[in-house]
Amino acid sequence: MKGFRQLVRNMLPRWFFVQRGPLGKNVVYLSFDDGPTDGVTNALLDLLRQYEVRATFFVVANKLEDNFALGERIVNEGHLVGNHSYDHIAFGRKALPDQIWQVEAAHQVIARLGQGYRGFRSPQGYWNLKLLIWLAIKRFRAIHWNYDSLDYTIKDADKIISNFSQRPVTDGDIILFHDDSELCIQVLREMLPRWKEQGLEFGLLKDL
Ligand SMILES: [Zn+2]
Repeated sequence: MKGFRQLVRNMLPRWFFVQRGPLGKNVVYLSFDDGPTDGVTNALLDLLRQYEVRATFFVVANKLEDNFALGERIVNEGHLVGNHSYDHIAFGRKALPDQIWQVEAAHQVIARLGQGYRGFRSPQGYWNLKLLIWLAIKRFRAIHWNYDSLDYTIKDADKIISNFSQRPVTDGDIILFHDDSELCIQVLREMLPRWKEQGLEFGLLKDL
């Protein structure tokens, strides 16, 4: 079933649903969900700056309200901020009006950062057709991923790093991490120099 869903998603036009970037450009797309997190996101930004890597942060808007200066730092350092709902409620258990409220309320907070990006990633990657159509009409872009680091289930940096060795990233991959714990930093401290050495470049999801 999972493979079938992935196949269907791959067939959707990119203005409607984005799951991966183009092949042949040697560019991958790092994405961080569930922040910004005091004590984590700052250290992650330090690491990204060290390797001159840009990334997209799908923030939870009520966390952004509490850490707005951190959101400004994300933007000032050349990264992109996307919408990951207002308070990360489980979308699968909510009706469309509640889902819409989450997207719009989050957008109002995020818009104060001045980037104008309208990429939305649903909590837990939950999508349905009604939500996708509403997003398209309102010119929000649904952004999923195709490479999951599984940092929220594995909870072990060495294991995640070894998974990256066994199944290397390839160009066009949209890679999912979470900046609500330091795990992503432990993993990327190891992986960023490797990826840079391979000549991979790091794009922002607004450019897809
Ligand atoms: Zn999330």
